[in-house]
Amino acid sequence: MSAKADLLIKAKNITTLDPARDFVEKDLCIAITGDTISYIGKADGAPDATNTIDYKDHWVMPGLINAHTHLPMTLLRGFSDDVPLKDWLEKHIFPAEGRLVSPEFCRLGSKIAALEAMLSGTTTVCDMYYFEPDIADVMDQSGMKAFLGQSFIDFPAPDNKKQDGNDYKLLEELIERYGSHSRIHPVVAPHAPYTCGDETLKATAAFAKKHNLLYSIHVSETDFEMKQSQEQYGMTPVARLQKLGVFETRSVFAHCVHVTDDDIKIMAKSPTAVIYNPESNMKLGSGAARIRKMLDEGVLVGLGTDGCASNNDLNMFGEMNTGAKLQKVSLADNAAITAKEMLIMATRDGAKALGLQDTGYLAVGKKADIISVNLRHSNLQPVHDIPSLIYSVQGHEVQDVWIDGKQTVKDHKCLTIDQDAVFDELAHYRERMDF
Ligand SMILES: [Zn+2]
Repeated sequence: MSAKADLLIKAKNITTLDPARDFVEKDLCIAITGDTISYIGKADGAPDATNTIDYKDHWVMPGLINAHTHLPMTLLRGFSDDVPLKDWLEKHIFPAEGRLVSPEFCRLGSKIAALEAMLSGTTTVCDMYYFEPDIADVMDQSGMKAFLGQSFIDFPAPDNKKQDGNDYKLLEELIERYGSHSRIHPVVAPHAPYTCGDETLKATAAFAKKHNLLYSIHVSETDFEMKQSQEQYGMTPVARLQKLGVFETRSVFAHCVHVTDDDIKIMAKSPTAVIYNPESNMKLGSGAARIRKMLDEGVLVGLGTDGCASNNDLNMFGEMNTGAKLQKVSLADNAAITAKEMLIMATRDGAKALGLQDTGYLAVGKKADIISVNLRHSNLQPVHDIPSLIYSVQGHEVQDVWIDGKQTVKDHKCLTIDQDAVFDELAHYRERMDF
């Protein structure tokens, strides 16, 4: 007789994303003991549990992994839309950030981000921003898993105005406070090859290698970046990062919209993962990353929303939907990518990209990062095919969320962050700040 579990989830429809199992299964039970999945199988062999949930009309799956975002930028949602990317960044976003971004901004923006992410089924995020120790406090409290990338950039940044090394100080503070935390992971995050010189890229790569930290960077987002790199350095951004030692780190490259076949070969040979951000690439007019080609060549690909200023949401179901359609439209091929491939990208491969070995799919011994989607919604009925739900789920149908076995969303309500208090805080903040 097996030991008593804390929770037994009975699921009508389940996608465990376990490569050893069928993609879709019916009538399975999942037991959670502590923070871990202790049983997956038919009801006959299931252990007794303190609590049981019997889902009749739900889809149970692993929590989604948003592998590239900028959490506090929820506060810049809709702030500056429909302008060319270079102007958007240089004339709107960077100046606004210089004026507004503070520890308070980062804390408030991250609370809104954590709410939005969990309520639409995301359990892990990979962030890149400023004042990361403040963001870490919020994310710790939210119960989410968070890879938090302290930014490095070769001009005055909101948390490094004098360019006197405060970026390193903040990263060291983050490591000191959260370096051995089970859910919060410090990350080294130089902004991009076009905003960081060789010295910054090289030094940050060496730092990541020395401290065994993830290295997260925007790469080859635009045609402009690609051309400028070839003119200035005589090589592509990917080749330059290889030359500077970045491939010796565990790294994630966001975007990679404009890469050569040789760049793809370099990335395929390394554990470096590309993070596909289809909605941001579309909204900023950057183009369509060649994800089909990358997958065929063996590049590891995760999925991200990017920040709310360029998306404008953190909804990973929407991202799977758009991500599939962007590949189909750019290749004029309805079979360019499948719903199953998008689900793998948003879960198992996202976890692999971030170096998480104990989550990303549901199996005995893995952490209990689980979500349920209520299928009793008019936009989801009838259900003919479970993976195809990525084309119709809007995000709000996510009913329950567990992270490390702890429930953070129950009946569409967040248990770890008080939503009303956050909206009140936002209203007061907007009264005080002019934006
Ligand atoms: Zn980004």
